[in-house]
Amino acid sequence: MERNIGHKIPKFTFSVSIFDEDHHVKITLSLGLCEPYAVMMLYATLMPNLPSASLQWCLFLDVDGTLIELTDSPLETFAEPALKTLLGQVSERLGGAVALVSGRSIDYLDALFDPLRLPAAGLHGVERRKSSGDMHGASFVDAQLNHARTAVNALLQEHPGTSVEDKGRTIAVHFRMAPQSEAALRQSLAAIAKPLGSNYHIQEGSMVLEIKPRGFTKASAIKAFMMEAPFAGRKPVFLGDDLTDQDGFRMVEDQGGMSIAVGNRVHGQYRLENAGAVHTWLQGIAALHDSHRA
Ligand SMILES: [Mg+2]
Repeated sequence: MERNIGHKIPKFTFSVSIFDEDHHVKITLSLGLCEPYAVMMLYATLMPNLPSASLQWCLFLDVDGTLIELTDSPLETFAEPALKTLLGQVSERLGGAVALVSGRSIDYLDALFDPLRLPAAGLHGVERRKSSGDMHGASFVDAQLNHARTAVNALLQEHPGTSVEDKGRTIAVHFRMAPQSEAALRQSLAAIAKPLGSNYHIQEGSMVLEIKPRGFTKASAIKAFMMEAPFAGRKPVFLGDDLTDQDGFRMVEDQGGMSIAVGNRVHGQYRLENAGAVHTWLQGIAALHDSHRA
């Protein structure tokens, strides 16, 4: 349930959130100043409280924008030691049933969270590391993308502020620092991807467009994890913040699980405000006692 009271979008807002005893956002009150009317507005966002955590859950966690706040430089992300420790504790509490489900490569995730090595789906499900450590589809460079690789690098010379992230089997173009280039990039990337045929498509994300093989999604990765120990038989909970997480939300909902949107870009059954709120929520799981097996 989400309700907005008010009909104008404020240009400037000041927000106050009220938390319940479990540090979940109960209500957010925002006071906004709209130009040119200088109208002061008050609106509220109500979300249902998150259910009490359970040791019977398994967690699927997006990384950028969910565990770590987005930055202007997508290639320079950093995980605080406290976050690594927390993820290790949560994984231990849930019997190892915690997986990262990200658009990043698994190599990148391993470097980011070193020395932690969690089960992981990288490149939006194109590659996957099972709980056993077995890898599927990881760590190789797709030679079919060579032409696109060259073309994308040339294209970005025309758009200052953009950057390319070559992940081997996908090629991502970030334009967070060059939002004015979005339309031109979208058109040019479609032309670059066209010769690759229907086995590839362009994945949209938050200020990123990515050429990737079709048929792999975060949902397909979660589904695969759910057929394996230690995930099978548990209630899946997926946290994400972006368009690429929506299909994962539907997947866990279809499996009787729970979707939690982080921030305002996407809709889940529940919502946490930002990465900081996610950390607080994870601390609640890390602190679960053995009696929480409901
Ligand atoms: Mg994300």
